[in-house]
Amino acid sequence: MKTDTAPLTPGSTIGMLGGGQLGRMMALAAARLGLDVHVYCPDENSPAFSVAKAYTCAAYEDETSLITFAQSVDVVTYEFENVPSATAELLAQYVPVRPGTKALDVCQDRLTEKTFISSLGIEVAPFADIASDEDLLSAADRIGLPAILKTRRFGYDGKGQTTLRTRDDLTGARDAIGGGPAILEGFVPFEREVSIIAARNPDGQCRIYDIAENRHENHILRETNVPANISPDVIEKANTAVQSLMDELGYIGVIAVELFLVREEDGDRLVVNEIAPRVHNSGHWTEAVCPVDQFEQHIRAVAGWPLGQTERLADVVMTNILGSESNNWQAFAADPDTVLHLYGKAEPRDGRKMGHMTRIIRSGEA
Ligand code: AMP
Repeated sequence: MKTDTAPLTPGSTIGMLGGGQLGRMMALAAARLGLDVHVYCPDENSPAFSVAKAYTCAAYEDETSLITFAQSVDVVTYEFENVPSATAELLAQYVPVRPGTKALDVCQDRLTEKTFISSLGIEVAPFADIASDEDLLSAADRIGLPAILKTRRFGYDGKGQTTLRTRDDLTGARDAIGGGPAILEGFVPFEREVSIIAARNPDGQCRIYDIAENRHENHILRETNVPANISPDVIEKANTAVQSLMDELGYIGVIAVELFLVREEDGDRLVVNEIAPRVHNSGHWTEAVCPVDQFEQHIRAVAGWPLGQTERLADVVMTNILGSESNNWQAFAADPDTVLHLYGKAEPRDGRKMGHMTRIIRSGEA
């Protein structure tokens, strides 16, 4: 087991589980710091393969390949939170895995996640553990309707959840999401959705980017605006909450915290929806206007380097390029105020994230 806690020197290799666009952007950032990346992903068309020094195309259950991979790298990180726990545990016997297994355990299960967050005094939607139809009936009485029934594990982009508006909706609701372990969440009457991207390194140094406002379409992030329209005292409270989440997890890397903004007569309130132990789509704008973007920040953190400056140098609108919209790449590239990023994916399937662009708002512009 490599246990050296000293910073990785340039020329060291970071192992990356997952070869999607997030892994690709982290590999590019690592290269800028003289660090190599070895990507491990079962998908042979992984966008990260073409920008990494090495890659392994194998299953996350393939122990022989995992051990060979672990022996070829100095630290392992990941681009997605659903890394099987057996995979993370096996790798951790050979090499540090950052963020650690505690972060993975917390973020992979909505019940564990909500329980952990609320134990720190941070507000989440009212929630209940649902293992049976009886649980669902009594939780609906206690929490009230509307409410959202979500699978405890493997839900993303609105998959594995169903909204319950009336008592009639309770019938068959568990089957509609697969019948497995679930949680019921009270519906938060939010005005907008926001997110915070932050980082922590092994020395406990933390950096937090400006809070961003997100608009989704069909459960997929469409647009991120920064700055978000939120009062400074609410932002400060949110940042304090994110700091305590990272400290409690002994977190190393970039974390994303998604929150609901609830606007009430006596002021605004932020309610945490979920946390992702990784770089996040709502932080892509940082590459256009922050001295050190979320991808480099994550690499710095997992490599044990000092964290970089997160100051935002201009207002931005980041837009995801979905499906065949990527055919307009020439027009996007011709816009002088837009920073374009394409992921090198061949097939522009409907709704597939093909790239993103960040428009820099010049001061004085609306
Ligand atoms: P999630 O998969 O938990 O991120 O949920 C996907 C989307 O569903 C969120 O971005 C919200 O728009 C909506 N949503 C999830 N949970 C709640 C909730 N408790 N109250 C209101 N809307 C929610």
